[in-house]
Amino acid sequence: MISDRFVKEMKNIVGNKNVLSSREECMCYSYDATGQEYLADLVVRPITKEEISQILVLANKEKIAVYPRGAATGMTGGCLPINGGLVIDLTRMNKIMEIDTENFWAIVEPGVITADLQTAAEEKGLFYPPDPASNKTSTIGGNIAESAGGLRGLRYGTTKDYVLSLEMVLPTGEIINLGSKTLKSATGYNLISLIVGSEGTLGIITKAVLKLLPQPECTHTLLAAFKDKEVTIATIIEIIKSKIVPAALEFMDRTAIQCVKEYFELNTDQIEAALIIEVDGREDTVEKEIRIIEEITKKRGATTKIAKNVKERNKLWLVRKSISPAIYKICFTKVNEDICIPRTKIVEMLNKIEEISKKYGIRVMSYGHAGDGNFHINILTDKRNKEEMKKVEKAIKEIFTYTIKIEGTLSGEHGIGNTKSKYLNLEIKETEMELMKKIKNLFDPANIMNPGKIFYN
Ligand SMILES: Cc1cc2nc3c(=O)[nH]c(=O)nc-3n(C[C@H](O)[C@H](O)[C@H](O)COP(=O)(O)OP(=O)(O)OC[C@H]3O[C@@H](n4cnc5c(N)ncnc54)[C@H](O)[C@@H]3O)c2cc1C
Repeated sequence: MISDRFVKEMKNIVGNKNVLSSREECMCYSYDATGQEYLADLVVRPITKEEISQILVLANKEKIAVYPRGAATGMTGGCLPINGGLVIDLTRMNKIMEIDTENFWAIVEPGVITADLQTAAEEKGLFYPPDPASNKTSTIGGNIAESAGGLRGLRYGTTKDYVLSLEMVLPTGEIINLGSKTLKSATGYNLISLIVGSEGTLGIITKAVLKLLPQPECTHTLLAAFKDKEVTIATIIEIIKSKIVPAALEFMDRTAIQCVKEYFELNTDQIEAALIIEVDGREDTVEKEIRIIEEITKKRGATTKIAKNVKERNKLWLVRKSISPAIYKICFTKVNEDICIPRTKIVEMLNKIEEISKKYGIRVMSYGHAGDGNFHINILTDKRNKEEMKKVEKAIKEIFTYTIKIEGTLSGEHGIGNTKSKYLNLEIKETEMELMKKIKNLFDPANIMNPGKIFYN
């Protein structure tokens, strides 16, 4: 329970208007993109690292659970106050402090919206590649905490590949700095790699230095629609074997396509699956590459469309970026898993998922970053139907078990949060799990920082 004295102390730190305590105010912080709801006891909205440090010192002393929160677009419940306690809203810390056009770095606060950084970099001829489909809403702090991936992972990697240095506040209130601004560093343990993807369980990120790249000179995007799912997957492997590494290589199954068919640029009647493929780089190379890729897809029977300009390119991407929200047109609840598997196992995995969905009589939609093997497996269901939800649970466990069997991983980019914590031991063995728990304890001895996330119990 949070005492009146604690609320008063919070008001002294961040000011009255940045402490929200009424039920209505706290309800606005009780959800994320998973559709789960947990009510916080109190919400604070700090704007400096010093304020965060003071908040954490007090929370640590009184053993009050704290939950860092960005834009709440998380897909695994990461920011939800599942045990009640204090939500720390970081969206007021939204300054882009520097974009260095000589050293190619950006210095940002955690509440900066991903697309705002991408645009600011672009305006200076630079490029911030991590591109979650939620980029217009998600924050850099949330991206770092989840090691967000996105559409350009195949060629450019994920958020983890762009974090040079971090400032963070430990659960005990100390402010620390990790990494350096340099492109290389082999000094001491690589704690940045530990923090990126730690899902707000080890501390609160208050500043990041992020690597930028030169803006590619030219980009081409192709939509290829196929009449056969297995042929579509075989085409992915062939494209990559052709020694071209696309910036993006996205897959959509029939159900996903039907969900966004008003944006789809080709006739969808007989389409079983589609790919959106993007190549970028120098103009002469990119022109050639997109033609080679189009030829590969056409040889396998695809109908294709290459975007002729930025407007058409954005229209093609609208198809892909609209899938996640459009799913709600055909179901009340979606359970979105983001397994990542070796590319050569994609057909096997999709067939297995079809088998599991038939076994339990549930509907499943698959789409995602197929080029890097990261699939969004969406179970289309209704959380109000308790009997169906029991079947969904069983189906998820079978999907995860098979994922591990074929040397995949439970999450490519969404993290574990609370929704997947009970399955973590399918992948992480006992000794490794104990090591992870000891690390958590070293950072957060009172277990106040985002409890109930990643680890089950
Ligand atoms: C439509 C849609 C499309 C999406 N597409 C993608 C995609 O393509 N790729 C992808 O990777 N993800 C995707 N996501 C998931 C989500 O957008 C990402 O996980 C994103 O990184 C979350 O950012 P956020 O600001 O919303 O964080 P939140 O949801 O608020 O929080 C996520 C986690 O980060 C922690 N956190 C937030 N800020 C901080 C901080 N400053 N310090 C420490 N911890 C912090 C929270 O405690 C929580 O554990 C999508 C989500 C939606 C709704």
